[in-house]
Amino acid sequence: MVPAAWTGNGCARGSGKAGRACHIALALLALMAAFLSIACLPAWSAEPVKVLDYKMAGDASHMRVVINFDREPEPKWLLLRSPHRLVIDLPDVALALKPEDVKPRGLISSVRYGALGDGVSRLILTPKGPFNVEKIEVLQNEDGSSYRMVADIAAASEREFDAALAIQAETTASTTTAKTDRVGKLALPGDRPFTIVIDPGHGGIDGGAEGLNGTVEKEITLAFSNELKAKLEADGRYKVVLTREGDDFLRLDDRVRIARQNEADLFISIHADTIRLKGIRGATVYTVSDKASDADAQALADRENLSDKLAGVDVVEENHEVADILVDLIRRETHGFSARFARSVVGQLSPTVGMINNPHRSAGFRVLKAPDVPSVLIELGYLSNAKDEEQLRSAEWREKAATSIAKAVSAFVVERGTTGG
Ligand code: ZN
Repeated sequence: MVPAAWTGNGCARGSGKAGRACHIALALLALMAAFLSIACLPAWSAEPVKVLDYKMAGDASHMRVVINFDREPEPKWLLLRSPHRLVIDLPDVALALKPEDVKPRGLISSVRYGALGDGVSRLILTPKGPFNVEKIEVLQNEDGSSYRMVADIAAASEREFDAALAIQAETTASTTTAKTDRVGKLALPGDRPFTIVIDPGHGGIDGGAEGLNGTVEKEITLAFSNELKAKLEADGRYKVVLTREGDDFLRLDDRVRIARQNEADLFISIHADTIRLKGIRGATVYTVSDKASDADAQALADRENLSDKLAGVDVVEENHEVADILVDLIRRETHGFSARFARSVVGQLSPTVGMINNPHRSAGFRVLKAPDVPSVLIELGYLSNAKDEEQLRSAEWREKAATSIAKAVSAFVVERGTTGG
């Protein structure tokens, strides 16, 4: 007998019952095959979900990543450490991104992606140090067919990152939203020491102001910050961190990020600038405000905010948090604390160090914009004034001024009812 495959129709030659039965079976098979191919069509030939575009915006403290998809994606995410990373897995997604869109910026120091197999694409975001995932959500766009995934990431402390990792380990589902309570930090400093971040203004390529006798601001700010750190550490109750310990350039938003990653309870930026009128001298304490207290404060903030541009950093003002009521509440509360601390510094400095008229002033300093960290900027004096310059160069004077500011910190801590330690 000739093998069925050779006969063309798959049936044995001949006639009779066997032949007819074979033809019927074949017809049934053909029907079934046709049915199956229709029924299974979507599974066999489904196009993967396509990425329409990828956007990243924000600064060194907060970043928002938005990815638009042609259909609804089902992301799963998890945190990894060493280094701190956010991994987002996207089943049935073809992840093709433009190199210019994934260029590192703000808090994000690298973006990597690739296929994991089985149609799953993986996106790996590496922020600068520990961070907190504020949310990852998928929303339908107004066109009714496309979707967007929004991921909000904020700089956070090692402790906060560990807490999120612990929650992740407890829950098997990696889609958990491991939220860290942003209000809790202000209300409950908890079992950690009261933390002060001191920010020596300028550094590296940005020298800051220059004195009549050649004193460079970035050197004075670092020398004074070291003095203040020593004074505060001698107290024994505080953790003190400097934003820079050497002659390094730091972006303004990186200074804010360092404050957040250390869970700063207080941020003190140290400066010694110049002013048009050489006769003006004395210290000033600034807090942040949308509207400057006076024209000089505005001019100073404008100059300080230029620091990033001086170093060739592309500065994009991001205000995506403005609409967030919670952040707004925290910001208002923080403003209150900042103003209280500023008054305390003025009170302590006035008897020991000369101050200008109305020594508590305000303007829109970018370095003071952390919404949840009470922040002040202290202008120790003016390098445009010969006497001030001489004082700023004196280790003895710096010691005296640092002692006064340390007293102001102590008074502030007592007033807040936190003893630290
Ligand atoms: Zn300055």
